[in-house]
Amino acid sequence: MPERVELKTREQMRVMARAGVIVERALAAASAAAVAGATTRDVDAAAAAVIADAGATSNFLGYHGFPATACVSVNEEIVHGIPGDRVLEAGDVVSIDCGAIVDGWHGDSARTLIVGEPLAQADVDLVEGTRRALWAGIAALATAKRLEDVAAAIEDETERAGLHPLVGYVGHGIGTAMHQPPEVMNYRTRGRLAKVRPGLCVAIEPMNVIGTSESEVLADDWTVVSADGSRGAHWEHSIAVHDDGIWVLTAADGGAEGLREFGVSPVPLA
Ligand code: MG
Ligand code: MG
Repeated sequence: MPERVELKTREQMRVMARAGVIVERALAAASAAAVAGATTRDVDAAAAAVIADAGATSNFLGYHGFPATACVSVNEEIVHGIPGDRVLEAGDVVSIDCGAIVDGWHGDSARTLIVGEPLAQADVDLVEGTRRALWAGIAALATAKRLEDVAAAIEDETERAGLHPLVGYVGHGIGTAMHQPPEVMNYRTRGRLAKVRPGLCVAIEPMNVIGTSESEVLADDWTVVSADGSRGAHWEHSIAVHDDGIWVLTAADGGAEGLREFGVSPVPLA
C-alpha cells in the first residue's frame, strides 16, 4: 500500500532536533524522579516541568484523550501506562515515553530503567537487550535501502537477547504530527516497507517482553500489558535521514554514544 511520506528539509529537521533535545532532558528528569516511594504521577510531573520550562508543548497530553505528559509503564505494563497513584518499588522495571512540539515539529522518545537494585538478572537483560535492539535498528537505518533492513536488525538483536517483540505495535514516521507514515516494524513481515531516503524522519521503538509476544489492553483503554504478566521494556528515538547520513534527533550527541558499538557515526544536520 503506498503511503504519503512527509519528507523534511534540513532546516525542518534542525527544528525537530530542538524538540528532540527537550524530550531527552524531560526523559532524564523523569528517570531521576523514578525512585522507590515516588508515584508514577511524580515521574510524569518531572517530564512536564522540563517541557514547560523549555517553552515547548507536550504532544502526549490530550492525544486521543491521553491525560498526561508521559506514558509511565511498570513491570507487566509494556507501553501506554497512565501516570497516577502507583508507588514505585525497588526492582520495578519502568518505561517512560514522552514527546514535545517546537514550532509545530515533533519529537518522541522512550527509555526503560530499573528502580534501585534489580530483582533478577532477567530484568537487566530485558532492559539492555531492548536498548541494544533500538541501537541496532538505528545503526541499520544508516545504510538501509528500505525499512525492512531496520526491522530485521531489531528482530535479530531481540532474538539474540532471548526476548519477544510485542506484536501489533510499531514505530512510525514523525514530523508535523507525532504519528505519520511510514510504519517502522520491529520484526520481519511479509509486506514491503518504505524506502529510506533523505528527508525521512522516523521514530524507531522496539517493545520487548520476557515471556510472550501477546498483549492485552486494560479497561482504562490505554495500558498495554503482557498477556502472561511477564515484564516488558520500551526504548525509542526519533531519527532524521539526511543527505550526508543520519542524526538521532532525541539525543544531544546525535546518537554518537549509542551507535559507537555498531561502528556508525551520526552526521550533524548543520
Ligand atoms: Mg513514544
Ligand atoms: Mg513513538
